[in-house]
Amino acid sequence: MNILSFNREELRDRVQKLGLEPFRADQILNWVYKKFVTDFREMSNLSKPAREMLSEVFSFYSLTPVDKVPSSDAVKYIFQTRDGYLIETVLIKERDHLTLCVSSQVGCAVGCTFCATALDGLKRNLEAHEIVEQFIRVQQDTDTRIRNVVFMGMGEPLANYDNVRKAVSVMVSPWGLDLSKRRVTVSTSGLINQLRRMSEDKLMREVNLAVSLNSPRHRLREEIMPITKTNPLRELMDVLIEFPLPVYRRITLEYVLIKGVNDDVRDAEELVRLIGRHRKRFKVNLIPYNPDPALPYSRPDLESVYRFQKVLWGNKISALIRFSKGVEVFGACGQLRNRSMVKFNLHGKGTKVDS
Ligand code: SF4
Repeated sequence: MNILSFNREELRDRVQKLGLEPFRADQILNWVYKKFVTDFREMSNLSKPAREMLSEVFSFYSLTPVDKVPSSDAVKYIFQTRDGYLIETVLIKERDHLTLCVSSQVGCAVGCTFCATALDGLKRNLEAHEIVEQFIRVQQDTDTRIRNVVFMGMGEPLANYDNVRKAVSVMVSPWGLDLSKRRVTVSTSGLINQLRRMSEDKLMREVNLAVSLNSPRHRLREEIMPITKTNPLRELMDVLIEFPLPVYRRITLEYVLIKGVNDDVRDAEELVRLIGRHRKRFKVNLIPYNPDPALPYSRPDLESVYRFQKVLWGNKISALIRFSKGVEVFGACGQLRNRSMVKFNLHGKGTKVDS
C-alpha cells in the first residue's frame, strides 16, 4: 500500500485497524509532508515495533528517478513508473520562488497538433500517489521549499479528474503539503463537462484555473486542438464566464503563439471580441511556441509577439508574455515529450537505448 495515496481520514482509519492509535496517522503525515521523511525508521516519535510494522505494510515510492536535466532556469526530472513508463516533472526557478510542473497522465489523448506529448497518445492515467510523489521526490532534492504547483506537465488533468482531485487535496490540506489554493493551478485544454464538474466542486474550483485557448476562431482551434469539435469554443467561453471564481481571482487563458498559424494581429483582435466585456474575468498568457524537432511549427519573432500583446493591452486586457521556462530542457506546458525520449524508448517502457 502506498502511503501517499491516503488522506488523513483514511490513514487514521488504517492505522487504527493495524492496532495503533489514530493520532499516529497525524505523526506519520507530519513526517512525510512537513519534514519529507520517507523512512519509518527515522520517525522517532513512533515505537520501534510500530515502525517495523508500518515499514512492512506501507511503501512510499513507486517512481524511480531516471534522469535529471538542469538548465539555467529549470530542472527537468524524469521518472519511471512501476509499469515502465516515463513521466516528467519540471522544477521552474522563478525570480523569488520555485514552481513545480507536474504530469497527470502518461501521454495525452487530447491530440493538440502542436504538442509533442500528443504524438504518443494516452498510455494511462497517473494515480494520485504518483502525482504527489513527483512533488515529494523533487522537494527532497531541493533546498528551498516548493510553494507553487502547476498541472501543466504531460496529460490533460481534467481527464484524470478523481486522481488529480485527490492529489490536489493532499497538496492544499493542512495535514498535507499545506500549499495555498492560490498557488496550485490546474491547466486544461477546455473539457466542458469536466469544467462544469469542477465548477460544482468546492475544492477544485478554489484552485487556479488556466485554459489553453490558442485560437479565438472555432475553425482554427478545431484544427490545432481537435477536442474543439466536441467542446465548441463558444460553449467553452460560456462555461468560463459562468465559472464561480473566488474573489480577485481570474482565469488564465493560455495562448501559445505559433508563427503563421495564430499570431496575426487579426487573431488578437478576434481574441478581444471573444473576451468581450468579460476582460476582468480573464488574463492572457502569451507563450511564444517552444519548437520541437518532431513538429512542423516554429516560434514567431518577438516583434509579432509584442504586436499581438499590444492589441490586447489597447483593449484593456491583461496580457503577459511568458517565455516557457525550461526551454533548454524542453519543459513547457503541453510540450513535454522530451529529449530524453531520444535516449529512452517510451514504447519500450523505459528501456534505455544507446544514443
Ligand atoms: S497540449 Fe496539453 S492537452 Fe494538448 S495534447 Fe499536449 S498535453 Fe494534451
